[in-house]
Amino acid sequence: MSADTVARGGIAAGPEGADDPVRPMRAFGLRVARVAQLTPHFRRITLTGEDLDLFGSGPGGETLDLRIKVLIPSPGHDLPELHAVRGSLQDDWYQNWRTLDESVRGAMRTYTVRDLRRAVPASSGFAGRAAELDIDFVLHPGGGSGPAGQWAGGATVGDSLTVIGPCARWGDCLGIEFAPGSAGRVLLVGDETAVPAIAAILESLPAHVSGHAVLEVPTAADFLDIAFPADVEVRWHARNGAGHGELMDADVRNVILPAACLRGEEPEEVDIDGALLWETPEATPGHGLYAWLAGEAAAIRGLRRYLVRDVGMDRNAVAFMGYWRMGQVLAA
Ligand SMILES: Cc1cc2nc3c(=O)[nH]c(=O)nc-3n(C[C@H](O)[C@H](O)[C@H](O)COP(=O)(O)OP(=O)(O)OC[C@H]3O[C@@H](n4cnc5c(N)ncnc54)[C@H](O)[C@@H]3O)c2cc1C
Repeated sequence: MSADTVARGGIAAGPEGADDPVRPMRAFGLRVARVAQLTPHFRRITLTGEDLDLFGSGPGGETLDLRIKVLIPSPGHDLPELHAVRGSLQDDWYQNWRTLDESVRGAMRTYTVRDLRRAVPASSGFAGRAAELDIDFVLHPGGGSGPAGQWAGGATVGDSLTVIGPCARWGDCLGIEFAPGSAGRVLLVGDETAVPAIAAILESLPAHVSGHAVLEVPTAADFLDIAFPADVEVRWHARNGAGHGELMDADVRNVILPAACLRGEEPEEVDIDGALLWETPEATPGHGLYAWLAGEAAAIRGLRRYLVRDVGMDRNAVAFMGYWRMGQVLAA
């Protein structure tokens, strides 16, 4: 590790600019441009920054379920050295960050790019626009947010945030898991933490794709206006105090019936309190239905079991991701 790296708080970052070495991930030093309280539990933070045009996306500019890391300073610590991190990250940046003292390194949490708008250069008659990145933060129902939720709840214009995401110059965009292949039908299921990803996926689906999106959010006031193809049905559910995941679980069983059963396979048990619930296969060509499930780990595990064992879906056509675990702080 170079002396420069140590001075930057242990995360190996290259210098900024055109000579920056090209690596898969970059740390982007961004600032809050706008804050919009979309609904009681969704707060959209729009970020901007000079190097945001180097932020990666899919081949057509899509972001789908593109995940990013946000770095939140510990209370009482300004962490100027973390906020000063810029540029390409060495492959071992994460291990280096983990070795720092917790009070120094702050908290790292995973979020989704809800939208990425490229800069529009000024031209005659047009003022131009800086690149912008939206993140929709969930303010945890009933309060009790961790560092990321608290940061979002208090964020104001001009605040800075370090975001770790893919580098556009690398080629492959790391962090996108949605891979339906040639599936003509989709099932998208998630709680409020997966709504930003599902909304971005729906907006990018080709017009011929059909299917269902089953979304569970804290209250009816959290239903969002999102765009989707004509043959996709979007089914919102307001939890209103019901058990987390119960409504989306019941609705998936309405939408995808076990009668469609071809062959049932018992998926292996995943210890969701000891391991990350995460499998994102690339859909095998020719499959009619591709399912993408994300949210609280126990809810997602139950649904995956239903789809693979009871409905008989090929496990290669089911991507499932535990985005968070009730009552636990997941290591970033
Ligand atoms: C790939 C991926 C993409 C994600 N995208 C988004 C996104 O776009 N927007 C978003 O808001 N979240 C998203 N999440 C989920 C987010 O990372 C977690 O909710 C995270 O725990 C929030 O961090 P925190 O610091 O607020 O709470 P933590 O410190 O991590 O947790 C504190 C406590 O709150 C509980 N908790 C965590 N999340 C919630 C919740 N949503 N509701 C109720 N209790 C909760 C925990 O179980 C714990 O007990 C994503 C997660 C992954 C893995």
